Amino acid sequence: MLKKIAYKYFESLVYFYRHLGYKVFIVFGFSIVIGVLDSLGLTMFLPLLQMVNDSSAISAEELGRLSFLLDIFESARIDLTLLSVLLIMSSFFLVKGLVYYLAGIYRVNVQEGFIDRLRTTNLKGLNSITYKYFIGSDVGRIQNTLTGEVDRVANAFKFYFRALQNVIMIMIYMVFAFLIDAQFAILVTIGGVIANFLYKRFYDQTKKSSRILTGEANTFQSLVIQNVANYKYLKATGSLSVYQQKLLGYIEKIKDSNKRIGKLDASLTAGREPLLVLIVVSIIYIQTSLLGSGLGPILISLIFFYRALNYLLQMQMDWNRFLAVSGSVENITSFEKEMRKNKEDIGAHEVTEPIESLSLRNISFEYGNTVVLKNIDLEISKCQTIGFVGESGSGKTTLINIIAGLLTVNSGQYLINGINSDNLNLETFQKKIGYITQDSIIFNDSLFNNITFWAEKTEENLQKFWEVITKTALLNFVNSLPEKENEVLEHNGINLSGGQKQRISIARELFKEVDILLLDEATSALDSETESIIQRNMEDLKGDYIILVVAHRIATIKNADKILVVEKGKIIKSGNYEDLIKKSEYFKNLVRLQQL
Ligand code: ADP
Repeated sequence: MLKKIAYKYFESLVYFYRHLGYKVFIVFGFSIVIGVLDSLGLTMFLPLLQMVNDSSAISAEELGRLSFLLDIFESARIDLTLLSVLLIMSSFFLVKGLVYYLAGIYRVNVQEGFIDRLRTTNLKGLNSITYKYFIGSDVGRIQNTLTGEVDRVANAFKFYFRALQNVIMIMIYMVFAFLIDAQFAILVTIGGVIANFLYKRFYDQTKKSSRILTGEANTFQSLVIQNVANYKYLKATGSLSVYQQKLLGYIEKIKDSNKRIGKLDASLTAGREPLLVLIVVSIIYIQTSLLGSGLGPILISLIFFYRALNYLLQMQMDWNRFLAVSGSVENITSFEKEMRKNKEDIGAHEVTEPIESLSLRNISFEYGNTVVLKNIDLEISKCQTIGFVGESGSGKTTLINIIAGLLTVNSGQYLINGINSDNLNLETFQKKIGYITQDSIIFNDSLFNNITFWAEKTEENLQKFWEVITKTALLNFVNSLPEKENEVLEHNGINLSGGQKQRISIARELFKEVDILLLDEATSALDSETESIIQRNMEDLKGDYIILVVAHRIATIKNADKILVVEKGKIIKSGNYEDLIKKSEYFKNLVRLQQL
């Protein structure tokens, strides 16, 4: 039970503590100092009140258990006159102001450090997970978590800490109130607990709505991304409006959830003060008329309660606001956990030598229970060009992904330069890989940056840039651009032809000075001019790199050193073009269909 309560209220604290350590307690320490200084200042009202009645004597009795304060003043030889009491009171509030200022600055620093850390760990977490986990995850959720959710967690932090700081203040005021008039304090506390109990229902509902809202926001984000990513398809097929309906549904849902949370917040805020004033007023009446207590200590106690009440209101508002975003803390906690769990193992050995050989020995690969590749043996040596053909779904892309170190095998061995890939720091290997995908990767930046991957514009780099531009037959194109190499390729290269985009992609890899080129050939038909240009590009590159091509057009790989026919996760035939025409019925048919 205790564990459950602790978990419920302190789960977030544990989360914040994990990120911030001891700083959490310094924030609370400031609150304690502020609360005590404020209470001592307020206590000085009691001598003042007495002076209203009778300026000659200040009775220790009226101060209840705080009468020791009088002793302190006495031993410090401070006479309690109107002037000295006012001065002492102002000093307490002055020092409190100063501490308040320092506490504010400290909290902002901690908060900004927290957000910074959150963004950094999540980004690094994302970039260190395995590719297998990445392709199975929800892109919308990842995006939402890295952007919007971070802000929501930052707010959760703010409200959670404000709520806890308010709890500390309430506790300090309560202690002072008890010290001055215990009976009154007990009665007010009972009233407060009852009021709080009535409010519990609202909290539970807010928390539930918050969870629903986070789920809806994740889905919405995911749908928007797909809307943008598949825009061309949706527009070309007149499907935008149908797809839009799905999104509109979620916009409506998010609106409703936010409204529900807002409504709960409004009723909480509006109802609380009248309710509590009613309780306090009744208690004062009961105590003075029925129990015959004096009004002096009750009034000072009341000041404490009034302040505690303010903080209680504030605390409940903050707590409710915290609950409204608490779904995000849960979400980001599980996100961080998943990132940690699916972190890629990094082998110790760095690949510094040029790639001489790649060997796949009896490897198999599964997605869940589905066997995608089985018993693959393959030797690739320096400067070989290898083509992969086979029906869609036969496992070509998966095989290439394994060779690129994106996926790790379930059984068998993958050796790079004779070293087991498990022992290698694969990023150092991947730096030697150039990847030319079906959808060419174009960044929203200048042509120079696109090709050099933001290299410095030195004499040397510029020379190298023009070399690769010439090599990839882009020279005329670049010279025709108004800004030449500084031309910005906007909107993911939307104004470039498919062939130009691919040549830019190739140029980037050549600039990078890679050892291996992976080509995932476009399945869509390119115009014959572009096709022959790409073919020529391939011929130019052949012999200088290990080139692995997932080919859909036989023409591209006609001169490959080796062609592998993949069927249902196995390499069923291999050989050069002429060999395969003789050996493989499938290959022969393919060639005939493509009218070579
Ligand atoms: P190809 O490139 O030859 O078209 P793939 O290597 O892409 O084939 O896919 C091989 C098999 O693996 C297919 O049956 C496909 O359904 C399955 N597959 C591919 N990616 C995934 C994935 N992320 N999760 C589960 N199965 C997958």
